[in-house]
Amino acid sequence: MPVLANKLILTVIEPVRAFTSLPSVEARNLMCHHDIRKRKDTMTNLEYRRIYLDNAATTPMMPGVLAAMEPYLTSDYGNANALYREGVIARQALEGARETIAEAIGASPTEVVFTSGGTEADNAAINGITAVMRQKYGRIKAGNHLICSAFEHHAVLESIKSRKQDGFLVTQVKPRRDGFIHLQDLQAVLTEQTMLVSVMTAQNEIGTVQPVRELADLTHQVKSLNPTGVLFHTDAVQALGKIPFNVREAGVDAASFSAHKIGGPKGIGALYLCRQTPFIAQIRGGGQELGRRSGTQNVAAAVGFAKALELTLERQQHEMNRLAQLRDLLAAELLSLDRRISLSVPIDPTRHLPGLLAVTVQGLESGTLILHLDDAGIAVSGGSACSTGSLQPSHVLTAIGMSRSLALGALRFSLGSATTEADIPIVKAALARILNHG
Ligand code: PLP
Repeated sequence: MPVLANKLILTVIEPVRAFTSLPSVEARNLMCHHDIRKRKDTMTNLEYRRIYLDNAATTPMMPGVLAAMEPYLTSDYGNANALYREGVIARQALEGARETIAEAIGASPTEVVFTSGGTEADNAAINGITAVMRQKYGRIKAGNHLICSAFEHHAVLESIKSRKQDGFLVTQVKPRRDGFIHLQDLQAVLTEQTMLVSVMTAQNEIGTVQPVRELADLTHQVKSLNPTGVLFHTDAVQALGKIPFNVREAGVDAASFSAHKIGGPKGIGALYLCRQTPFIAQIRGGGQELGRRSGTQNVAAAVGFAKALELTLERQQHEMNRLAQLRDLLAAELLSLDRRISLSVPIDPTRHLPGLLAVTVQGLESGTLILHLDDAGIAVSGGSACSTGSLQPSHVLTAIGMSRSLALGALRFSLGSATTEADIPIVKAALARILNHG
């Protein structure tokens, strides 16, 4: 682990450790050299499988994905832009992957741009669209207003914030306490100056699925000073594969995706750009991806992304039902366990990610809970971000109006293909032990 990252973690973990009996950071790093898929019960000395409940952070590659990628890392290593045979083989694989992804999201292949992940896709969408405004319309003050929700992923928030330096006006729409962006709240901030709105499809920390179609329609109805009209971008990183998502049905002009959230490799994503969406490349060079994203394409990763998506969609309906049942069971078990545990947002099953459960534990900090759960063999994440050495509540939870003290005790359980019903009593028992002794 880089020294700086280690230092940062130390500043957070050490104060937590002082109040508990957790091992030091050095000891934890050593522990991590052991097989992390196993955990050892210190009482019985028996080894168990670890329970990984952080699938919204990342997922293991699905069986079959690595095998599909392998030839393009070894024998078929050609540059997809070369004219000779090796290039043709690589290009066919790349374009095949693009077609699979395009078909899955309801786009045409030329509307899909491969990126290095969701973060780059978000940055490219915001910067590439707003760059058109700057370049084409220069100092004209019309159409320099950007809107995003206050609980966007930092990839969107930071991209939008950075546009302020270039003279753009930025408005953040606040979600309500139910975890949704309401139409009237967007309506209230849209103006004829607005050029771009960005609202994510599925919220990564609380799991609410936003009314993107309605928000996009509302956005498109605005009479804009911009010749392009008001455009709508959605970060669909947490939606792809987990719920049905189609760019045409969603009515969006741009959308971002990432492979590693759905059993694909890390370091690959895609940006959907509707044919009419004005865009200026942010990464320039050899003009790959029809001039929208230069750089030699990662063929193996693109193939892995397409394979993971294909496999995910084959089982989507089944997994949606299975995970929603497990989520509800886990919610019921945790709520009945201790009065200090409550849901971060109410769960409306028709508008919630099937595998995501966000709770808060009153009076405890998520850092402490995460480390104790880790010791019990369970991987979950919290809602807190580490910032300047102190625990800060998540911007998502404060945006929905949760109090700081409650937000500090946030836990996110994100279930995945390996999660089974048998995991739930183990999680419950571990949390019970922590709450009773922690
Ligand atoms: N957007 C959302 C909603 C996410 O959850 C994530 C990942 O955490 C990203 C963007 C960033 O994706 P990537 O890790 O591929 O850069």
